[in-house]
Amino acid sequence: MSTSEPTASPGREALPLSPASAELPTGGTVRPVTRWGTEVMHRKARPVTSYDEELRSLVADMVATMYAADGVGLAACQIGVDLAVFVFDCPDDDGVIHRGVVCNPIVELPEGKDRKLDDSEEGCLSYPGAFVDCARPDHAKVVGQGLHGEDVSYEGGGLFARCLQHETDHTVGTVFGDRLSNRARKKLRKQMEDAAEDYPGQWPVEVGAESPAPSAVGGDAPTSSEDDPER
Ligand SMILES: [Zn+2]
Repeated sequence: MSTSEPTASPGREALPLSPASAELPTGGTVRPVTRWGTEVMHRKARPVTSYDEELRSLVADMVATMYAADGVGLAACQIGVDLAVFVFDCPDDDGVIHRGVVCNPIVELPEGKDRKLDDSEEGCLSYPGAFVDCARPDHAKVVGQGLHGEDVSYEGGGLFARCLQHETDHTVGTVFGDRLSNRARKKLRKQMEDAAEDYPGQWPVEVGAESPAPSAVGGDAPTSSEDDPER
C-alpha cells in the first residue's frame, strides 16, 4: 500500500516500534512493481507451505522493493509472485510503527456497533501516483504465519488497519479499485495517467542500476563509477 504522506521523512526513524513487530529480512533485490491488469494480481494466490530459504529470499526482495517504492506494505503478487504473503512497515494513527511478515493472512474486522468506517485516502504501489478515499473499518486484526511458520497476529487502527486490509486483499486477488465506485475509480485512473511519467515500467528499479533478474543477487551497483562513501 502507499500513502501520499511522506513515509521516509526524517522523523519517522524516531517513532516507537510496536512490541509485536518482527524483524524484516534485509539484503534483497529491488524488483519492478507489477501493475494492476497483470493476471497474477487478480486471482487468489497459492498458500505458503514451505518456510525455507526461497521464501526468505522472496520476502527480502519484497522488503527491498517496498522501501525503494516508499510504500508501507507490499504483497508477493506485486513483484509478480503467486504466493499468499505480504510485508509491512507502517505507522498507525498514534505514531507507532508496525513491522512484519504475514503468510496465509486471514483478516478479522469489527462487527455490529464496533464497526466504524474510516473514509481516508488510500493508494497502491501497483497503481502508482494515485490516491482516493476508500471506506474501510477503522480497526483490523490479521492472523497467519511468520517467516519461520510460527503463528503471528497483528492488530491496529488508522493507516495500519487500512494497510492490513489492503495487503490481505492482494493475497486473494482483490485490488482496492475493486472496492470503489465507478466515479472514484475514474478519478484514480486519471491521477495515475497524469503521474505515469514518474513511474516507468521498471519502477522502482533505477534505470542503469542492477538488473532485476533473479540472478542479480547482492546489493552492489555495478554501473556506479563514482566513489560512493555509502558503500
Ligand atoms: Zn496495493
